[in-house]
Order: sequence, then C-alpha cells, then structure tokens
Amino acid sequence: MDEPKINVGICDGYPEIRGRLNGVYRTNGLSLSGEFTARPREGAIGLYDAFDREVLRTREIHLLAEGKGTFALHEVTIGVRFHWERREDQTFSGDLTFLPSGEGTLAAVNEISVEEYLMSVVSSEMSGEAPYAFLKAHAIASRSWLVAMLSRGRGEKGNGQETVIRREGEVVRWYDREDHALFDVCADDHCQRYQGISGRVSGRAAEAVRETQGVFLIHEGKICDARYHKACGGMTENFATCWEEISVPYLSHVSDSARPHPPVRTEGDAERWILSCPDVFCHTQDQGLIRRILPAFDRETADFSRWQVSYRREELEEILREKSGIDFGVLHKLVPLERGPSGRIRLLRIEGSKARVAVGKELEIRRWLSPSHLYSSAFIVSTTRDPSGMPTRFTLFGAGWGHGVGLCQIGAAVMAEKGYTAEEILRHYFRGAAQVKRY
Ligand SMILES: [Zn+2]
Ligand SMILES: [Zn+2]
Repeated sequence: MDEPKINVGICDGYPEIRGRLNGVYRTNGLSLSGEFTARPREGAIGLYDAFDREVLRTREIHLLAEGKGTFALHEVTIGVRFHWERREDQTFSGDLTFLPSGEGTLAAVNEISVEEYLMSVVSSEMSGEAPYAFLKAHAIASRSWLVAMLSRGRGEKGNGQETVIRREGEVVRWYDREDHALFDVCADDHCQRYQGISGRVSGRAAEAVRETQGVFLIHEGKICDARYHKACGGMTENFATCWEEISVPYLSHVSDSARPHPPVRTEGDAERWILSCPDVFCHTQDQGLIRRILPAFDRETADFSRWQVSYRREELEEILREKSGIDFGVLHKLVPLERGPSGRIRLLRIEGSKARVAVGKELEIRRWLSPSHLYSSAFIVSTTRDPSGMPTRFTLFGAGWGHGVGLCQIGAAVMAEKGYTAEEILRHYFRGAAQVKRY
C-alpha cells in the first residue's frame, strides 16, 4: 500500500485566517509566497496578499507546497475550551486548504503524510525519556488505530453517539469518536493535539515512529483498530464492554502480567480483585517511571491502579441529577448488574426513592457518577448507613484508568522497562494480531 495522507483541521469557524507561506505554493496557475490573509467573500473564499490585495477568489482554495515548503498560521487558538486556551503562531509542512465552514467563517486544513502526522503527535504526547520499546510499540498501535479510522471513510466513523434502550428503565449508551465533516481529525485534544512542526518532532519518540515506518497490527488481512488506555488495573477489557456489542478477537481481555490472573465473573471476584494489590505490570509504585512515560500525567492522579472516591449521599444525588438529568430522589443503592472481565461495570442499577434506572455502558457510568469522569467503571460500592438504615455516604473503591481495552500504557512501559521488546508487548495486548510492514 502507499503511505496514506491525513487531513488535519487546524482551525475551524474563523472569520479570517492570517499566515505566511515560507517557500512557493501553487494554486490555480499562480505561484504564491509570503504573508497572506484568507476570508470568506460573497459565498466564496478570498485570498489576500501582504498589501491586502485580492489574489484569488474561489469556493475552496488548495495551496500545494512546491518541494519542502512550510507555512505558518498566525494566532491559532489551541486548547479550545480548556482552561489553558491560548493563541499562538504555528508552523506546518505539507499542503494547505481553505474551506467554507459556516456562516461567514472558514476552516484551514493541513494535508500531510500519516508518518509525519504521527511523528508530531507521538512526540508531543509521549516523553522521549520513556523506555524505547514502549515508544515503538505505541507508535505501531497509534498508526494502526489512525489508519483503521481513516479507512472507514467519512460518514462511517460512527454517529458520534449511539443509544440503545433495551428495556424500560435502562439507559445504555456508548460513544464513538465524533466525526468532523470537513477533515479527518482536528488539531486539538478532542482528537489528538497536533502542533505541526512547531511542536517537538525530534527526539526518541519521533525516532520510534521513523524506525517502525509502515508497520501495522494486522488481523485477518485488515489493519487493527488498536485501542489504548492509561492503565487497565491488572486485566484488560473486552471491546463490547465499552462499545458496540460485537466480538473483536484482538481486543479481548488479557491478564496484564506474565502469570495469568483469572477474569472477574462474580461480585465476589470483583471485590477480591479490586481490593487486592495484584502482581501486574501496571500496578507499579515507580513514580519516576510514570513521569517518564507521559509528560502530561497529572501528579495528583498517580493512584490510577487502585483508587477511591467518597461522596456524601446528598452530594452524589446532586451529581446524578446534573449528569443524568434524572431526579432519583433519596439515593438508596448502587447495584452492579453486569461486569466485564477486568471488573469494569457495563450495567449499573441506580435505585432512589423517585427512580430506578440501569445505566451503561462503561463511559456513561463514569460520567454519571462524577462531576468530571470516574477513572474507570471497575469499582465496588461501600455504603455507610445511619442507625435507621438510611445511606449517608457512598464510597467507591476502583481499579484502573480509562476504558481498559487494548494496550495498557503504564503496563506496556513497565514491560519495556523489564526488557520485553516492542513485538512482545504488542503480542501481549493484541492477541492474534500480526505485525506487518505495509510500506
Ligand atoms: Zn476532533
Ligand atoms: Zn494494565
């Protein structure tokens, strides 16, 4: 196969986009370089030079780089909707397209090769100080996930959200990644943060991408939808616990250890498992290693392997009311009805004086029971009651961080530290998937 290209939405919904072409770009028989401004103009897009003279007006503008040209966009908003939102200039390589994106606004899209894109996102997401076998394994998993997503084609990447109500009193919902209409991925954290070549594209993370160029996880001839998460908690999870009710053989549960642990099947198993400190790869006390794996890791959230969250009853009632839109009245009980093999709850019954609703799947449970998100849905509930039997406090004891499907990032890094190779790490998490170089 040829190396795929990816369209990255750099900015969307802007009334005007300013930038600079470093080198020669071609469009509609014109050769352009230097400062420019693009803005919507009477149903089309106008391109203006440094003196604000119109050089081109057409419905869409495709600027094709001649040779190794780069371009800068001025004052791009990054961290949209995050507390650290700011504006800065960013530099990109590859082609630049302007598209109308709404009433009087336009979008800038950067088309680049998948490898160049990966080099940028992997090196901004991963610390170069992480073990090298981990960086290589992650590069192959990220490449596979990305190209599997691209090959599903626009409009088939999921509807953003799926809801299944199986019986009255049940809300079972899961989320596919939201689709973008004008490009494959956006440049923000919603998809994967992409800062072009102004981000760090050197170093060992980029080297890991280069060294594994074109290598994919393959199952039955198809590129694997290789999911990953922060920490499984000791056992990875099945695809169907989190998303559509289908079996994905290479996304089936594995024990995150050299010696297998049995999967969780009963509530008794869940309690024993979650309250234990199992000998598993991602249950590491090595804070130094954790900081070296992902630079963005929050120091306060280092207790991802086993964690606990405690709410006063009234506090949890309020969170539930806000997050689910359902008034449960006085909260009586949280009852896990179905769990996956990692202990993650896939259906939880919430019983109150006014409502009794079963909620699923994994992510929806995490959303309903926290002002932000619970680390995972692998938890057991301890209820404190007053002498009359009225609950006063709900304490959740949990395991793991994230959906738990596919590669466990902390576990994979610990494996690499123990001397496992990238190939062995991928064979461990994606059972039955081959590693094949496609270009
Ligand atoms: Zn996005
Ligand atoms: Zn793990």
